Amino acid sequence: MKIVFPGSFDPVTKGHLDLIQRATKLFDEVIVAILTNTSKQNLFSLDERLSFLQQATKAMPNVKVVAVKNDLTVNVVKKIGAQAILRGVRSLKDFEYEQEIALINRQLAPEIETVLLLANPEYSFLSSSMLKEVAKFNGDVTEFTSVEVAQALKRKLVQKCID
Ligand code: ADP
Repeated sequence: MKIVFPGSFDPVTKGHLDLIQRATKLFDEVIVAILTNTSKQNLFSLDERLSFLQQATKAMPNVKVVAVKNDLTVNVVKKIGAQAILRGVRSLKDFEYEQEIALINRQLAPEIETVLLLANPEYSFLSSSMLKEVAKFNGDVTEFTSVEVAQALKRKLVQKCID
């Protein structure tokens, strides 16, 4: 079975990667779809986010990463020919949000199931926003993400301070 993991991934964290890794053991193919979340302003471009995720998942043979511009998740899932959507739950707050999205998606495409995986407790505090916040104040983020992302965050935020 093919499953699509949609998200902003701005940028990818070890929490996302843990979820992807675990999903590769449950599904034949995991397609990570980088989508636009209109309620969030992105720090990294779609291409940058694609490159970080491709790098970070290159040792996982049944993972594919795609970047999608302006499309609904359920349409992406149908176009890819997948049967399910993967999302992660770190807390009750996440659960309420994910439940809402899952119910809307179910209304739009009842044949597509949403699968929620609980976050690894080691990473349940970790979000892309938290990562950016720590990096902004010069904190060390290497243990929370890939080497490429940690370096890019440093460059990007230094650049922002100069601008
Ligand atoms: P979105 O803007 O679509 O919420 P995110 O990149 O923030 O995109 O998150 C994508 C998915 O990954 C969401 O289901 C989110 O709950 C999940 N996720 C984010 N961080 C973690 C983490 N540390 N552990 C497990 N799941 C996570």
